[in-house]
Amino acid sequence: MRDEALLERLTQLWGVSGYEKLVREAIAEEVKPYADKVWTDPIGNLIAFKKGRGEKKIMYAAHMDQIGFMVKNIEENGLLRICNMGWNWAGSAYNERVLFRNGTVGVVGCYGPIEEAENKIEKLFVDIGAKDRDDAKRMVKIGDCCGYFGPYLHLAGGQICSKSLDDRLGCYQLIASLRENPGDLPNDIYYCFVVQEELGCRGSKVAAQQVLPDIGIAVDITPAHDYPNDLTGANKVGDGIAIKICDPSVVADEDVTDAMEQLCVENHIPYQREVIDRGGTDASSMNLTGDGVRTGGICVVTRYPHSQSSVVAPEDIEAGIDLMNAFSARSFDF
Ligand SMILES: [Zn+2]
Repeated sequence: MRDEALLERLTQLWGVSGYEKLVREAIAEEVKPYADKVWTDPIGNLIAFKKGRGEKKIMYAAHMDQIGFMVKNIEENGLLRICNMGWNWAGSAYNERVLFRNGTVGVVGCYGPIEEAENKIEKLFVDIGAKDRDDAKRMVKIGDCCGYFGPYLHLAGGQICSKSLDDRLGCYQLIASLRENPGDLPNDIYYCFVVQEELGCRGSKVAAQQVLPDIGIAVDITPAHDYPNDLTGANKVGDGIAIKICDPSVVADEDVTDAMEQLCVENHIPYQREVIDRGGTDASSMNLTGDGVRTGGICVVTRYPHSQSSVVAPEDIEAGIDLMNAFSARSFDF
């Protein structure tokens, strides 16, 4: 990989949706030496601009936020009642550790059998080891958020296993592609590190309104279908970068996907076509900006998404950067 230490560092940063500050600060330091202009907008998006010859404005969006939970009540016995910050699966959270930004650690438990929780997050609680409500209040306030944490590891097959690959791997890909942007490309490129994707693609909506791109590309993960689970489709880990064709939130622009496929063939970049019938990405909000934006997605196929143990293939991540570089360097005739 180009810079696996950077990817590992990004995955380990704390940044639950709406509270992406630590991630934003780390990325700002990485992009400043390479971009012509870097700014943060009022909602918290970080945008790095690299000038080209101005043929098209291309916007890449990767989200900085990770899914998590927010404390909505503190029980008399010191247990924390929580609500979702993004889509969580109760079965994945159960008995797992969570980390608050102030360093407080908790364990997720369930009021009753987890099998009967039916994915209702209100059946879960976080146990921070407090004696009672007053003790808990010394460590955590109503409105504080917690998220998964845990080490970045490799499986025996070489795959990466970590929390928050969704979407710190997209942030890593944007940084890597910016570093390799020679500065004389046909297109002006906006590398947008956006907030609150997991809450409904809020940051990218605002970023796209500022940039008003000709082409908007979401750089994110997508669920795998190559292991036993409740999703069906063709996405396989290690089979190449996934070119988004369609998800419930967007139909990718045909000319954009054709160009991507052609570039993969010409440059010997392994790729797969991605269709999913659950989920969505920042492509949806870019697509519906201004007069409408031609939109696509570059996605890394991920097992166990939205868990503390997501699994991806490093070669898929690198293929995504190769595709971004080729796409940025292309002249478009539409
Ligand atoms: Zn994502």
